[in-house]
Parts: sequence; structure tokens; C-alpha cells
Amino acid sequence: MAMRMSSLFLRTLRENPADAEVPSHQLLVRAGYIRRVSPGIYTWLPLGLKVLKRVEQIVREEMDAIGSQELLFPALLPREPYEASGRWTEYGPNVFRLKDRKENDYLLGPTHEEMFTLAVKDMYSSYKDLPVSLYQIQIKYRDEARPRAGILRGREFVMKDSYSFDLDEAGLDKSYQQHRDAYIKIFDRLGFHYVIVQAMAGAMGGSKSEEFLATAENGEDTYVRCANCGYAANVEAVQVAAPDPIPYADLPASHVEDTPDTPTIETLVTHLNSAFPREDRAWAAGDTLKNVVVMLVHPDGSRAPLVIGIPGDRDVDEKRLGAQVEPAVVAAFEEADFAAYPSLKKGYIGPEVLGEASESGIRYLVDPRVVDGTAWVTGANRPGHHVLDLVAGRDFTADGTIEAADVRPGDACPSCGHALESARGIEMGHIFQLGRKYAEALDLKVLDEHGKQRTVVMGSYGVGVSRAVACIAEGNHDDLGLVWPRDISPADVHIVATGKDRVRDPEVFETAERLTRGLEAAGLTVLYDDREKVSPGVKFKDSELIGVPTIVVVGKSLENGVIEIKDRRSGDRREVPVADAVTEILAEVN
Ligand code: ATP
Ligand code: MG
Repeated sequence: MAMRMSSLFLRTLRENPADAEVPSHQLLVRAGYIRRVSPGIYTWLPLGLKVLKRVEQIVREEMDAIGSQELLFPALLPREPYEASGRWTEYGPNVFRLKDRKENDYLLGPTHEEMFTLAVKDMYSSYKDLPVSLYQIQIKYRDEARPRAGILRGREFVMKDSYSFDLDEAGLDKSYQQHRDAYIKIFDRLGFHYVIVQAMAGAMGGSKSEEFLATAENGEDTYVRCANCGYAANVEAVQVAAPDPIPYADLPASHVEDTPDTPTIETLVTHLNSAFPREDRAWAAGDTLKNVVVMLVHPDGSRAPLVIGIPGDRDVDEKRLGAQVEPAVVAAFEEADFAAYPSLKKGYIGPEVLGEASESGIRYLVDPRVVDGTAWVTGANRPGHHVLDLVAGRDFTADGTIEAADVRPGDACPSCGHALESARGIEMGHIFQLGRKYAEALDLKVLDEHGKQRTVVMGSYGVGVSRAVACIAEGNHDDLGLVWPRDISPADVHIVATGKDRVRDPEVFETAERLTRGLEAAGLTVLYDDREKVSPGVKFKDSELIGVPTIVVVGKSLENGVIEIKDRRSGDRREVPVADAVTEILAEVN
């Protein structure tokens, strides 16, 4: 097919849109692929839709290749299934909710576990029906707190989601592996650099979960990897290796000391070194136990404080903490909250007043490094006072541990102990052994070979299809514009006719038109710049901005019987005789 720019629904822009910060967002808007409707909500213009469809097609082909079957659920969904799984509440403000004329509750699907589970329950009842894998490529809705970077994090976006249904864990492992292999093929074909990292397994715990992250310096996900053993994990999923407990029989008793004006770790360490100097070495931030208080807001709106005890040389990592407390969200602990919980003395919080069994009842979780026998300097719950030699397991016991401390380059690899490196990426896909959570909630059972009811075990697998478009653009551009990989480009060839108009330069337009038809007949998609009275400069700029990998210039050189073929990526150009043009271009693009 051919798209003629004289009539194509396209306007390129010379300036970056004011709200666009990352190159993919700037270029996709400027080159006329997408257009903003509202924050996180975009229109796909003809060129953009072509790219989106090509990405969809790659995903579709690889899903079909593993025997997954495509279907399509509605995006507009009734409340009941989500009520049954608990997610009507759990999702909180992230979900778009609406009512019909009879006041019934509906939502716009943020993800479709419930619908897939119910569909299988509706149609299947025997182990003989399993395994089955189903997928859809569909528009999802999430009222993201921070829509970002155009289509990279939208509130309406296209996702491929698939689910596997198996009788047992061995079957699930196989389905998971098939999806993993398919994802490797998909992301290889999409042409961006990616890493596969361990991810949060979520509420089920223990089951396998991996993310495919496109490597990108401005990505929202931080991951760590170990050059020694190959371990790679999203920081959210890093499990700090807890040291062995230390015998504490010979440790000195704890003692409360006057530490005036020491509400921060820095002031405390300075004070310790002047007032209580150690003989072996100086006090350091890591000798202190910092108790950070946050407010957890649960999906039902209830609020409860949580105190996190971490070594004073660490900070609480918001994302790690957020992932741990899901579906609750973390809010700041305000002055008014301190007033409501008078046992918490700002800057001097200590374990004595904490814990679910304590008088305050405040939940207290500590970093895994706070093992029994470790001695700490920490708050004495009185302004200007700290307690020294407070020993975990002897003087206090927390309600449990939490993986909320930041993970840093150089930290020990949880798997081999070597130093970790850190890098950033964008989550493109997520594969996840879901287990029986939804099958149990929605009662999806089949009869096994002995005639017994068995709960089905599920896997869940997502690809960010529209996000992939942004990600590919992010990884494939230069100062002039986009540079699409061949398999993703909205067209195979961009023909530029540089003549003034059809009256003054009939040969240029006729040759370009003939070439367009010839390539079209050979099965190529051609973007043909047939605009009259548009300067060659403008046309070249547009072709560079739009980013079709092969640009063909039909113009002045026709006098010598040649046209020019230009490689958008390398900038290399070569002249070929008009007579050979179709053959030469076909050789170039295939
Ligand atoms: P994120 O951590 O980026 O918010 P998620 O873990 O919530 O993503 P999943 O529920 O695992 O996302 O969804 C599957 C895939 O859908 C993700 O891997 C991602 O590529 C894509 N995706 C998720 N949210 C968005 C969004 N708001 N806009 C575009 N793509 C998204
Ligand atoms: Mg995910």
C-alpha cells in the first residue's frame, strides 16, 4: 500500500511539545504518530497506528506459535467478579469506576485475571481440557498517579495479557517456560536491549516472577545485577541476605544516655563520637538503628502507622516499601499524626514503644540485617535521649522483617556475595506464576483423572504493547528524528519527490509515482511525499523526523538517469539508475 503525504492525515511539528521531556514522547508527537487528548490519554494517528499494529502483530505471531489462543474481553466490566476476587477494593483509586443508568457499578478493566478465570470456569470442567492458554491484545485503563512520558505510562494503554491454566505445578512450570521463550522471541524481534530480572512474586510468595526490562537510563525501574553469577533482579524484589544471628550472652546491658539535639543520624553520630568515643573505631551511621514512621492507607480507606527499623546508613526506598505493603499505599506521617500517637517522639523513636504486642500496638518491622545479637544505638522515646547497646532478640523483638532499605551498587549479591551493579530500565513485560489465588477466589475447579475436584493453577503474562512503541522510539532515534527498525517502521520506504510541482517538474513526480506503484505491487508499504510547492529542505527534514529506514530521493539527479537511496540510520547514500530502482530498493529492504 501507499500513503501519499499530500493527503495523509499528518502534521509534523518543528518544536517539541511543552509537556514532553523524554525523546520518544517529543518525537512521536512531533513526527505525527500520536496526539495528546488528556494526561496519559493519546490518539493514535495513521502513522502511529501502523507502528502499533506492527508491534501487535509480532506479539500475536509469537503467542500463536506457542499455541495460545486469542480472544477479546470487554473493557467495560461489571463489579461482581472483581468484588469476588477482592480487587474492587484492593485496586483503590487506580481503577476507573462508573455506574450505569440503573446505578450498577462498573469498571474499566485494568487487567483481566477475573474474566479469564471465569471464562475457563464457564466452558471447561475436566482435566482433559487442560492445559489451555488464552490471550488478548486490548486497551486497559488505569488511573495512574503519575502518567508519564506520553504513551510510556498512559492511563489508557494497549496490553497483551495471557493466562495459562494447568492441573498442577509441573504443568504451570512448562507453561511459564513456553511464555518465557515466546517473550524472548518477541523482544528480540522488537529490537530493543533488554534484561530479564527477578521480580516481586506478590502476595503468593515463593512462586516465579520475572520482568523483561528495556535498558534505559531514564527508566522508572531500577535493577541490580551481579557480574559474577548472573543474578539480576528488580530492586523491589531483592532479598537482602540476612547475616547469621550473633551470640549475645557477653554483651553489655543497654543504657539510656543524654544526647541533646540529636534528631538526625548525622547529629547523633557526631554526638556519640564526642561524648561516648569508642576504643576500637569511630561510631558510624551503620551503628544506629533508624526508626522511620510512615502511614499506611489501606484500600478500604483505613489508616495505620508502620515503623520501619533500618541501619542508620540506609534510607527507606519508597518503591521497595511500596511493593511490600501493597495493596496498601504509603503516606507521610504528618505532625497531626504525631499528635495522635503521643508515644512516638519525633527524632527519638525506639523499639520500646513499638510492636503489635506493645501498648501502642504500632506495627514494627525491621531490616533483615537486624538479626538477633546485633547491638544498636537507637531512640529512647524521649526527646534528647538515645539508648546504647540495645540488642536485638534480647532487648527487643520486632513484628517481623521488611525489605524496604535501599539497595546500592556494591551491596553483596544475595546469591553469591559479589558486589552488585545497578542500572535502570522500563518494564516491558512481566511473567508470573499466579498460582491458585484467582482460581480459589472464583472457584475454578476441574475433575482430575480420579474424579476428584482440583483447583486449577494459573500463570499470568503481560506485554506493554503501546509502551513498546515508546520504548522502541526511545532506543531508536538521533538528533534529526526517529529511526525505526525495519520490522516496526510504518512504511518500508519513504519516497521523496523534490520537484516544485507537477507542471514544472512532471518527470520527477511521474517517476516517483511509477516507483511508488512498482514497490506497492511488490508488496511494500510506501510513504510517498508527493506534496507540491513544499521545499526539498522541508521534505528531507520530515523524512528524517518520521524515521522510515530507507529514503529514496527522486529529483534533480533524474537528469543523469539516477535516483538516490539513503539509509536513514547510517546516512549512507548511493545513486542507482532509474531502471534498476525497484530491484535495488527491494534488495535494500529485504
Ligand atoms: P508498572 O510497574 O510499570 O506500573 P505493572 O507492573 O503495574 O507496571 P503489569 O500489571 O505487570 O504492569 O502489566 C503488564 C505490562 O503492561 C507491563 O509490563 C507494562 O509493560 C505494561 N503497562 C503497565 N502499566 C502501563 C501503563 N500505565 N502504560 C503503558 N503500559 C503499561
Ligand atoms: Mg508488573
